Amino acid sequence: MATIYNFSAGPAVLPAPVLERAREDLRGWRSTGVSVMEMSHRGEDFISIAEKAEADLRALLGVPDDYKVLFLAGGASAQFAAAPMNLLRGRTRASYVSTGYWSEKAIAEARLFGQVQVAASGKDSKFTTIPPRALWDVDRDAAYLHYTANETIGGVEFQDAPEADGLPLVADMSSNILSRPVDVRRFGLIYASAQKNLGLAGFAVVIVRADLLGQTLPDTPSTVDYKRQVENGSMVNTPPTYSWYVAGLILEWLREQGGVKAIEARNIRKAAHLYAAIDASPFYSNPVEPAVRSRMNVPFHLADASLEALFLTEAKEAGLVYLEGHRSVGGLRASIYNAMPEEGVETLISFMHEFERKRG
Ligand code: PMP
Repeated sequence: MATIYNFSAGPAVLPAPVLERAREDLRGWRSTGVSVMEMSHRGEDFISIAEKAEADLRALLGVPDDYKVLFLAGGASAQFAAAPMNLLRGRTRASYVSTGYWSEKAIAEARLFGQVQVAASGKDSKFTTIPPRALWDVDRDAAYLHYTANETIGGVEFQDAPEADGLPLVADMSSNILSRPVDVRRFGLIYASAQKNLGLAGFAVVIVRADLLGQTLPDTPSTVDYKRQVENGSMVNTPPTYSWYVAGLILEWLREQGGVKAIEARNIRKAAHLYAAIDASPFYSNPVEPAVRSRMNVPFHLADASLEALFLTEAKEAGLVYLEGHRSVGGLRASIYNAMPEEGVETLISFMHEFERKRG
């Protein structure tokens, strides 16, 4: 079968060696004769898998000891609620930066639990840019400042963590975690759903500063109470064990690749080549301000939108799949997460040139 390159925004492509390893392990993990899917989450085999995943995540991101790491069910959407439930800490308001679809989702969910003050919004630019930090109006009495590190649909990405005016900084890193180094010390809370850079859907990683825990809203269910999850090793409920295991395989793979710095260098090359190809021709366009373009999700349009369906059909025939834009915005989008090889991006660029030559 010809090579398939999967540009899905999530669930997304996994590294080939991870799939191979998972396939091998299905017959029985190590010498146990039992696959990871069939293991007790409390048994020593799964505990060793769980602990290794946490250790690898800590090593890759440089997570300090006073930060707790959780592996939880429910994806990032559950964390949209968990963030205010755990971090309002007796305050009434939280400050949010709106940079697109996913920050708007986070804001709507936070409004169920308290007031949201919108410190800045990219709406006037149709979310094609991020308002400069100097123009933000952060409420200093807010419990925390929340932002979306990478907007998976709009394709805008913060190139650095913003100043938080002394508030705990909270980041949704669902679509760019582990794609570039971060200084965890600058954050109160980082959360990310797994189905882009960490494996399977319905699962999330949470990194939270320990001193923020313990003032959860009284009605908080125990499964989303970070303190209770910390006390129970993320096992208040039976955790998504297989997802945790796959995340572990990906983390191991990342370490073999040379870690986050090395993967970042590759991500920079991939994104630079793809944006250069888009910018080089009036046939293709990307609406995002160059300084905040995402390295992970590259939305683009054809000058003649009526050719987009044909583009998708022919791309698929060439082994380039899931290039359609999000249903809310249409157009096209190439998601080029950590696991997308450089050859995948180069193959897409060649296809784009060829499509333009034939139809442009
Ligand atoms: N935040 C961002 C930035 C996302 O891209 C997504 C999913 N695409 C989510 C949150 C929601 O994640 P989930 O559907 O896993 O809850």
